[in-house]
Amino acid sequence: MFVLFGFRTRERPLSSSPRVCEVCGVSARQVLVKRSTIFTLFFVPLLPVGRGTYLLQCAYCGAVRRMDRGAAERLAA
Ligand SMILES: [Zn+2]
Repeated sequence: MFVLFGFRTRERPLSSSPRVCEVCGVSARQVLVKRSTIFTLFFVPLLPVGRGTYLLQCAYCGAVRRMDRGAAERLAA
């Protein structure tokens, strides 16, 4: 008998709004994404590992910035 387990990364968009990008300075759509790591057993996702990270991606230049949880929740509300 064998056990097949692993981890999968999932990105879920939370919100999208036009803002001024901190990198390129252009007012463009900024997409807030939550990236989570999920423990899988036989390719079935079971449990999230950790709290996940929040990322803000600029639709114009593609720059991705990491956000802390509090700022991300305020932005998503
Ligand atoms: Zn940008």
